[in-house]
Amino acid sequence: MNISERVKKDCCGCSACMNSCPRDCIKMTPDKDGFLYPEVCEVLCVECNKCAKVCPVLNEDTPANKPKAYLVRNKSKELRKTSTSGGFFAAAAKYVLSEGGVVFGVGFDEHFHVRHSYIENLKEIKKFNRSKYVQSEVGHTYRKVKEFLADGRKVLFSGTPCQVEALLNYLGNDPDDLYTMDIICKGVPSPKFWKKYLSWHKKKSGKDIREVRFREKTYGYGSTTMRVVYSDGTEYDEPYDVDPMLQFYSKEMISRPSCYDCKSKGKHRRSSFTAGDYWYVSGAAPRMDDGIGVSQVLVNNEKAAAAFEEIKKYLDVEPLDFDKDSAINGGMMVTSAKPNPRREEMFADLDGMSMSGLQKKYFPSTFKLKNRIKRRIRPIMYNMGILKIYKKSMRKRQSTKGSKR
Ligand SMILES: Cc1cc2nc3c(=O)[nH]c(=O)nc-3n(C[C@H](O)[C@H](O)[C@H](O)COP(=O)(O)OP(=O)(O)OC[C@H]3O[C@@H](n4cnc5c(N)ncnc54)[C@H](O)[C@@H]3O)c2cc1C
Ligand code: SF4
Ligand code: SF4
Ligand code: SF4
Repeated sequence: MNISERVKKDCCGCSACMNSCPRDCIKMTPDKDGFLYPEVCEVLCVECNKCAKVCPVLNEDTPANKPKAYLVRNKSKELRKTSTSGGFFAAAAKYVLSEGGVVFGVGFDEHFHVRHSYIENLKEIKKFNRSKYVQSEVGHTYRKVKEFLADGRKVLFSGTPCQVEALLNYLGNDPDDLYTMDIICKGVPSPKFWKKYLSWHKKKSGKDIREVRFREKTYGYGSTTMRVVYSDGTEYDEPYDVDPMLQFYSKEMISRPSCYDCKSKGKHRRSSFTAGDYWYVSGAAPRMDDGIGVSQVLVNNEKAAAAFEEIKKYLDVEPLDFDKDSAINGGMMVTSAKPNPRREEMFADLDGMSMSGLQKKYFPSTFKLKNRIKRRIRPIMYNMGILKIYKKSMRKRQSTKGSKR
């Protein structure tokens, strides 16, 4: 039975198997929903089992580490504005690059396809800044990491928890010069849905796309928007309850099947650092609550702790109590999201319906007058300084109802 048949729907698409195959007989191929799965050429396969040995789904491993938790924000306000949360990634990248190292992360290519690549210069950091809520194509990135390490370079690799596990499995150890940053990960949306979303923009505007910014801090960290900049400089800027990409993602319609039963989540991880959002800053560290964003960071082992001492010079830091679940943003760190009951139906509609048709069918309330008015007053509330208070009370209401972000 080949790797693809063994792992089936649990496959997270990490590409470790493809990277490890000595015969190069595995290629990652999209399924009907656009997610990549391994396809094995049986003629070339010599049944060496290397692919199975590196697969994070077949080799679950939870370290007995004692992470330290921190609330951090990058000292550069500019970097924080262009980062998703508090700009921890940019600080870690700066440290590794200042040591002559290489940073691997997720960016867009010229067609806005989401993929892993690397940078060797801080000027290029913008490429990786900001979360792209689409599954990234890893390609042969792990092989490249190995090459840089063999050349004696320090490497920072950032990705989802399953991608970091995949890299560590592929390398067979956690080399001294390698730092890994995984994220608190809700799930990764379908590249096929993303492609359709981009086409919708081009058709609707009649223009090409120049830039995409998921979670632009238009109305502050707690109320981000999807910003798309068109070729003529005009902009589209819509919140979670209007923009289809954010809407279908937040309502659990478009993430990869493996994300709904994730094998890589947990409070104890093999990565050096785990970074995520933090929504309780006003209670935990009011002095840090300036509305531009903070990151929660877990420093997962001794190697990471030593590097964190260096990275700290770029950060403002407050300790958090790792053992107290209420003190850390623990929900998505350990629990998989639940798929929307209409997810399958939506994917069955994807080829035959337009983006607006899908939105009208699955989220008709988007177009209701009440919601349209709410959206009109959002900028006014923001300018008057009351949007943050409103969002905070909504979040409190949701958390007492037991919902997790
Ligand atoms: C798909 C996805 C889901 C997430 N879900 C949650 C969540 O549920 N709860 C939570 O607290 N935080 C979540 N995060 C993490 C959060 O959005 C921030 O990435 C994190 O707080 C780090 O922010 P930053 O300001 O330090 O870095 P930023 O400058 O925002 O850096 C983003 C980092 O994420 C990496 N990255 C970007 N897109 C992807 C991608 N598609 N796949 C893998 N890596 C990527 C980049 O390489 C970079 O290292 C998620 C991130 C992603 C990409
Ligand atoms: S068993 Fe070996 S040769 Fe066959 S696909 Fe896996 S890694 Fe490649
Ligand atoms: S190594 Fe990754 S891509 Fe390959 S089968 Fe396992 S989970 Fe899927
Ligand atoms: S939710 Fe789990 S399986 Fe999905 S991308 Fe994140 S770490 Fe991988």
